[in-house]
Amino acid sequence: MATPVERFQELLRIPTVSHADESDTDWEAFDRFHAALERLYPLTHARLEREVVDGHSLLFRWPGAGEGHPLVLMAHLDVVPVVEAEWEHPPFAATIVGEGTDAAIHARGAIDDKGALVAILEAVEASLAEGVTPAHDVYLAFGHNEETAGGGARAIVEALRSRGVRPHLVLDEGGAVVEGVIPGVHVPTAMIGVAERGVMTLLLTVREQGGHASTPPATPATARLARAIDRLHRHPFPRRIAPPVRAMLQTLAPHASQPLRAILQRLSVTAPVVAAVLSHGGPEMNAIVRTTAVATQLAGAPGENVLATTARAAINIRLLHGDTVETATERARRVIADDEVELEVRHGSDPSPISPWRGDGWRRLSGAVVATLGDDVVPTPYLQLGASDSRWFTSISDNVYRFTPFRLSRAERDALHSHNERIRVDVWLRGIGFYRALIASS
Ligand SMILES: [Zn+2]
Repeated sequence: MATPVERFQELLRIPTVSHADESDTDWEAFDRFHAALERLYPLTHARLEREVVDGHSLLFRWPGAGEGHPLVLMAHLDVVPVVEAEWEHPPFAATIVGEGTDAAIHARGAIDDKGALVAILEAVEASLAEGVTPAHDVYLAFGHNEETAGGGARAIVEALRSRGVRPHLVLDEGGAVVEGVIPGVHVPTAMIGVAERGVMTLLLTVREQGGHASTPPATPATARLARAIDRLHRHPFPRRIAPPVRAMLQTLAPHASQPLRAILQRLSVTAPVVAAVLSHGGPEMNAIVRTTAVATQLAGAPGENVLATTARAAINIRLLHGDTVETATERARRVIADDEVELEVRHGSDPSPISPWRGDGWRRLSGAVVATLGDDVVPTPYLQLGASDSRWFTSISDNVYRFTPFRLSRAERDALHSHNERIRVDVWLRGIGFYRALIASS
């Protein structure tokens, strides 16, 4: 009889890597993953309705005792690629390293997001074994391409919408239980994302005649493009304390040491100063107080001795509440101030709606945090910086939250999408308790 940790290891060993170009994805690995789930979680597969959506996403429905008020637990099956040489332990071996409370499973997906996915299944399977029937329907929504196109989660939302399902509470991956995120606040905080920033790509293009690199014009396309990027970089978007960030600071204020506490308790006056200080507190703090823009891709001439006929840059922009795809594009146009630079919006989505940090959904989440992750943990609303699959759910639910029930150190969070991703065994096991408590609450 396998243990929860052994089941987790087995699932981490199946390389469900998704690629931006889906023809590179090994779908056979996803089929094997589905089959392993069926074998490892027999009660879940016997008692819940299961359907495959959009090729490889999974949607389960666990019928509840009563009508309405469904709970949706989200996670994704796919993981990002690895550069194997950078890893201390092979990324798909799920080796346990260390002992006691330090013992950690090293694997791609250990946190993002098989950590959550397998913990959810363990919680459901254990609850079923004890004869639990949830008060209301529980859906498990597992997308297969969160890290790339996100089409799986979108298709799941469409399926639910067509059946008239309006989730009462949706929980996806997001903030963890962390310490020391805000300097001067020394309690562990459960960062529950109530909103996420919008995301867009702005394509900048400069065209010119071309010709030989031995006789360049005064301002070649590449130089014009570089100037535009530099102008964007030197004129960052204005700082602002958006509502979810304000709520976070107000929640943490009583736990801050003086004089920070007094400053955070008078945000109506101190907000501009607080925003300025945060913006100098590293990339994460900067990103919670402003829309950020960064050039991610550059393209010029095909050869090193020819002039570029087109020079192109992709600018990845993350929109803080208060900005939209339209206002950010207009601002970029103003800052670049050059009619020769063409702007084109690709993949734009505005900031998400903001879920409430009071009411029944919030009470259930924060109750489960305190009951299972430690009564010293302070649940706080938080603005998620990256985009997640949960944004599709905001069209059918007002209560969409982003939280991963694991206590993670700075180093552990830095390993996400990087090498040496790992999770401590104790931390992961506690996460199962969190999902069980959430299922039991209503
Ligand atoms: Zn993820």
